[in-house]
Amino acid sequence: MLSHPTAAITVDAELFAPSGALADTRGRLLRDLRISVIDRCNFRCTYCMPKSVFDKDYQFLPKSELLSFEEITRMTRLFAAHGVNKIRLTGGEPLLRKNLEVLIEMLAALKTHDGKALDLTLTTNASLLAKKAKALKAAGLQRVTVSLDSLDETVFRAMNDVDFSVADVLKGIAAAHDAGFALIKINMVVKKGVNDQDIVAMARRFKGSGHIVRFIEFMDVGTSNGWRMDDVVPSAEIVRMISAEMPLIEAEPNYTGEVAERWAYADGSGEIGVISSVTQAFCSTCTRARLSTEGKLYTCLFAQSGHDLRALMRSGKSDEQIAAAIGLIWNQREDRYSEIRTEETARTKKIEMSYIGG
Ligand code: SAM
Repeated sequence: MLSHPTAAITVDAELFAPSGALADTRGRLLRDLRISVIDRCNFRCTYCMPKSVFDKDYQFLPKSELLSFEEITRMTRLFAAHGVNKIRLTGGEPLLRKNLEVLIEMLAALKTHDGKALDLTLTTNASLLAKKAKALKAAGLQRVTVSLDSLDETVFRAMNDVDFSVADVLKGIAAAHDAGFALIKINMVVKKGVNDQDIVAMARRFKGSGHIVRFIEFMDVGTSNGWRMDDVVPSAEIVRMISAEMPLIEAEPNYTGEVAERWAYADGSGEIGVISSVTQAFCSTCTRARLSTEGKLYTCLFAQSGHDLRALMRSGKSDEQIAAAIGLIWNQREDRYSEIRTEETARTKKIEMSYIGG
């Protein structure tokens, strides 16, 4: 098993009692928590979990190392007290985590600092969505994001590298829609020379469907995907390509710190989003924390080390002490990786996305 570097944690229950408005060194409030519920995935997307690294000998975490549903729920409650109002379950492939709907039910019972329901969302490759959509909805999941990198069977099968078909992902999306999920988001990671020829077809396919395609710039997460700046198709270029056929107008963000920049179709038939982590860094409004599969807290997707909250839980620390530790970690947060990214920094050792959660 890979060992992931851990940063020291100070625990002082006197400090940082949750106020619902925890700020970091740049005044960014803690608002979102992404939780990786499993480090395994049944896809081997070449840009995320390439087979050359994640092969049959790769040591994933044993079950005892994963946070239990009770531990995840406890952590979420403490983060909510600090002001988190949005939870995204991810991985790995989150639907591979057995009985995920039980966790969702537990999380759906929690409240934000000001007594509202948490915004509970999931990112999935949709391979198990047709089977699970109804149960997820019934458990209280509010929204779903599906990853789909191309509508071209050959391209998509090559990218997921396990021969999974586009048709089956589309079945998963349809099942989610039938189960009552509205405004499904569809994530397409764009890599130059691999699937950029499919951008316009993807936009065309979902225009007017009520779903929102979000085009994501290929990022240098982890160290195993061989990222190069030359592989990135800038979002501005993506918008230009789509707009040439289906005119787009820039739309206001739904809220401060929204990751995707919104573009609406001029004819009123919906919108797309672009996520420009590489060409237009949005660190200055980043309100996201990440909890890894084994309970380490990361304050940036591109972090090199995390803070071991599981160790605090399993050594019997109180809610107050753990909340204080979270408070101190966030309060000291300085991360702004995307603002300082270069070809050089891209080569530094970083945590893999499958472990930290996408
Ligand atoms: N298995 C789930 C899925 O496929 O959606 C959740 C985990 S996956 C790591 C979450 C998202 O991260 C997916 O939309 C994936 O395409 C995206 N992703 C992974 N590696 C990426 C990279 N290097 N650059 C940009 N997005 C990436």
